[in-house]
Amino acid sequence: MSRLLEVNHLSKFYTNKKGFFGGAPETVKAVSDISFYVDEQETLGIVGESGCGKSTTGRAVLRLHEPTSGEVRFRGQDILALSEEEMRPYRQKMQIVFQNANSALDPRWTVEKSIAEPILLHNPGISRSELDDRIDTLMKEVGFSPMYKKKYPHEFSGGQRQRIGIAKAISVSPEFVVCDEPVSALDVSVQAQVLNLMKRLKAERKLSYMFISHDLSVIRFISDRVGVMYAGRLVELAETREFFENAMHPYSRVLMAAVPKPVVVEDKAALYQGIGKISEVSKEGCPFCSRCPAAKDVCRQQLPSQKEVSPGHMVMCHLY
Ligand code: SF4
Repeated sequence: MSRLLEVNHLSKFYTNKKGFFGGAPETVKAVSDISFYVDEQETLGIVGESGCGKSTTGRAVLRLHEPTSGEVRFRGQDILALSEEEMRPYRQKMQIVFQNANSALDPRWTVEKSIAEPILLHNPGISRSELDDRIDTLMKEVGFSPMYKKKYPHEFSGGQRQRIGIAKAISVSPEFVVCDEPVSALDVSVQAQVLNLMKRLKAERKLSYMFISHDLSVIRFISDRVGVMYAGRLVELAETREFFENAMHPYSRVLMAAVPKPVVVEDKAALYQGIGKISEVSKEGCPFCSRCPAAKDVCRQQLPSQKEVSPGHMVMCHLY
């Protein structure tokens, strides 16, 4: 498989013009110096708790939020160097599925109009009959009769709306899709249907996914490789099997201990209980040191570097 996406030293900082009570500007380092790649037809799962920077990473890769620094290469092209006009063909190839399908579907529009929007944007010369055929095919691909395209989003359940959001994302034949917590707002039984649909579409359309979730069970089911994010850093990265058999970073191990079996966890907050708050982050040393049961003196003073502990298995921790 060849390389589709390559992300090098990506950072995304947000700076308030003024701090609280009009003080000095404050900078929030949402994502700091992370590197990874996604191959053709591969799913890279990114897991971590709320506020770890995983959604910001997905948006920065797509340039929905402009990165502060770093490099994003799509099929070798540095897309951060492109103008908005030059980006247009890449925007077609790189799509997103949101956690809440309402972000993708206008409640005042029929499903047909919502799905037609990106198709018309990228194919302004398309004929009416070709557009109709394409929408009908997309509806069938995500499990609906084409007659449902005349309905409005509120006439569908949450899971059905998400399937329509997926139809809209794939309507312009992307190669790469950022899936930002696409099943976390759904009931457990519906999650399985949507995940199976996404797996099938990946195989049929030869898609690559960056699949973001806080739920390790979901990540295990869908991913070829797993990246763990903590406080804006990518702290571990490995093939899925290797990760679930041999997670090495103390944070990954805490997550693994919270989900001993490959089951879908309904109480998501329980995953992260007992390890404090993500806001308690060391400014100089390891970002996890205030919560880490294995922390040493060096952990408080020095940021660990990324080490490849076995082929394809990267860990960012002073223990290795
Ligand atoms: Fe824990 Fe130190 Fe490793 Fe950070 S570097 S995860 S504090 S052992």
